[in-house]
Amino acid sequence: MDFSLSEDQQAVQKTVRKFVDREIMPHIETWDADQHFETGIIEKMADLGLMGVCIPERYGGQGMDYNTLAIVCAELERGDTAFRTAVSVHTSLNSMTLLQWGDEFQKEKYLTPQAQGRKVGAYALTEPNAGSDVAAMQTRAKRDGDDYILNGSKTWISLCDVADHILVFAKTSPEDGHKGLSCFIVERTFPGVSTRGFKNKLGIRAGNTGEVFLENVRVPGENLVGEEGEGFKIAMSALDNGRFSVAAGAVGLIDACIEASVKYANQRETFGKPIGKHQLVQQMIAKMTAGYETSRLLVFRVGWLKNQGWRNTRETSLAKWYACDAAFNAAVDAVQIHGANGYSHEFPVERYMRNAKAPVIYEGTREIHQIMQGEYALGYRKDKELRRNLPPWPFEKEGEVSQGQE
Ligand SMILES: Cc1cc2nc3c(=O)[nH]c(=O)nc-3n(C[C@H](O)[C@H](O)[C@H](O)COP(=O)(O)OP(=O)(O)OC[C@H]3O[C@@H](n4cnc5c(N)ncnc54)[C@H](O)[C@@H]3O)c2cc1C
Repeated sequence: MDFSLSEDQQAVQKTVRKFVDREIMPHIETWDADQHFETGIIEKMADLGLMGVCIPERYGGQGMDYNTLAIVCAELERGDTAFRTAVSVHTSLNSMTLLQWGDEFQKEKYLTPQAQGRKVGAYALTEPNAGSDVAAMQTRAKRDGDDYILNGSKTWISLCDVADHILVFAKTSPEDGHKGLSCFIVERTFPGVSTRGFKNKLGIRAGNTGEVFLENVRVPGENLVGEEGEGFKIAMSALDNGRFSVAAGAVGLIDACIEASVKYANQRETFGKPIGKHQLVQQMIAKMTAGYETSRLLVFRVGWLKNQGWRNTRETSLAKWYACDAAFNAAVDAVQIHGANGYSHEFPVERYMRNAKAPVIYEGTREIHQIMQGEYALGYRKDKELRRNLPPWPFEKEGEVSQGQE
């Protein structure tokens, strides 16, 4: 086993760390307080190639391995969860799904500008009455000649006001339960699409999240991703990629908690010594360190599995559950270490705590992941081979066609 980062990965890590320190850190408190999503950061990330870091070069990406995406996400979330969420949604949930399930037309028209960062992608699964219970969704897609007509609404959609392309899941045959779902690429400019961002979220206040409304939206048949009825499988395999990046981001949030806590514990004195000298404070920092190291290993194992081209739903779910819980616990303890100061805007830890809650809810709640892990261990849940796989890394060059892909 090789636990070291390659030279390329180290270079990316250094670049993103510098970028976050220079472009995000000085402004983030203001953006968070003003509930402002700074789109300029997306443009700058695109310039650095961060919007398609693990997408093959032939589709406009950087062609780096899947663990490089994890490194990018960890470094971004060290700055703020909002920008890591943007990469999770754009790259993992949308672009990697097109890479896995899209046809050549869709890869050229939609994936390539997304990987280059010229267009932004989002992922719209959740509805007011369908979160964990995906099959309860109400959005409908009816065939009309070569097109589909979509009607319904989605909620809690990250980047809703910003995305150019939205992967929308809708029922094509409502009587078939989860087998009746299909996946469509919907452009913001299609008539009948509108969005409305939320204000006053608990956390990720520097991010954009809200509703997507679809009113008689005509979507060309060529924008159906995969086959009719394959939407549930596509949505779940997208989550294998999204959850990986969420878990990786959690590693960065723990890193930020340790950084702030160690600094404060060495400065603040009680009873004639720095609070870091009190064993109960050391215990909180020790737990953060254990959470950081364990989460990091779980994440890199998933990245390695993806590089091999192997199914990783079980391992990804574990990494996501564990790392997000560890990050939330680390943030709560970071506030505790700061005492009353942790309860104020003067220090970043209260933001970490508010931000750390959403990842315990989105992309499969903590409870859903616990159920999954229990079912895997008991032998009640087994993963079947998918019709389309994420390509293994290193990626094949143009002209070569990988096994299992058309
Ligand atoms: C900031 C943010 C960004 C988001 N971005 C996106 C996005 O980009 N795209 C998107 O599609 N969605 C997004 N979501 C939505 C998110 O994926 C859902 O909120 C999540 O799937 C949970 O669904 P729900 O909120 O409807 O909760 P529910 O499913 O109603 O669950 C409520 C509670 O019941 C528990 N529960 C539910 N079922 C079970 C069960 N079988 N056993 C035990 N407990 C259970 C849950 O764990 C939870 O505690 C986002 C959410 C947030 C907060």
